[in-house]
Amino acid sequence: MIAVANQKGGVGKTTTSVNIAAALSMNGQRVLVVDLDPQGNASTALATEHRGDVPDVYQVLVDDLPMADIVKQVPDMPGLYCAPATIDLAGAEIELVSLVAREARLRRALTAYEAELDYIIIDCPPSLGLLTVNALVAAEEVMIPIQCEYYALEGLGQLLRNVDLIKAHLNPTLRLSTIVLTMYDGRTRLASQVAEEVRAHFGDTVLNTVIPRSVRLSEAPSYGQSVMTYDPGSSGAMAYMDAAREIAHRAATV
Ligand code: ADP
Ligand code: MG
Repeated sequence: MIAVANQKGGVGKTTTSVNIAAALSMNGQRVLVVDLDPQGNASTALATEHRGDVPDVYQVLVDDLPMADIVKQVPDMPGLYCAPATIDLAGAEIELVSLVAREARLRRALTAYEAELDYIIIDCPPSLGLLTVNALVAAEEVMIPIQCEYYALEGLGQLLRNVDLIKAHLNPTLRLSTIVLTMYDGRTRLASQVAEEVRAHFGDTVLNTVIPRSVRLSEAPSYGQSVMTYDPGSSGAMAYMDAAREIAHRAATV
């Protein structure tokens, strides 16, 4: 179970969650994406209804609805499933505060969910609030997408401290397993400088595969598709296929 987290918005959390999940499923794995962002971008990208009164992650977290009641099979993608988020989830951040075991509600729901899955990927919101805490308490691994841009490392210390706190108090087996460099523009010195700096700091945690900046990646969600089906030959599709292969390989050698 992998939580994809970074409290900065727009760094590629959702794009990475959706496309890694799709790539893994295309390699024969059974994968559930849990959309934990009230924006519901992952649900949109996976063509999973998340408007009006469809049951969503909010009801799982706050009303104890079983996970099985909200999970949907992603159209035309065998082995890929989505637990959608509606805008209701925006209220969960506050409503969770007064609930029992408020940090462990997602873990409890996923533990009770008896589907046979190889991976669960949790797409976190751009904050370090209770939703992200729930993801970090449920997961075994954290994956952090880092955008190859100015201020890429800003705020990362805060996220890492949170991971350490959760490890110390709530989830001892949590580990920062993966850093993925996103929106890499090979033409700029800045991008290669950021990549170098991140590798110097985090070593082998950083995937060898770097995700390039690619218009196809930003277009795919509006067609409710991963980039692998939208444009399989594009640089973004190939990069996410490679990234997924690396992740599967790492999982097999841990
Ligand atoms: P987050 O979930 O961290 O907020 P997103 O995955 O939604 O970030 O990405 C933010 C925006 O950047 C989206 O419009 C997305 O389509 C676009 N984007 C993400 N990754 C890339 C990329 N490698 N190349 C081009 N556009 C990208
Ligand atoms: Mg997002």
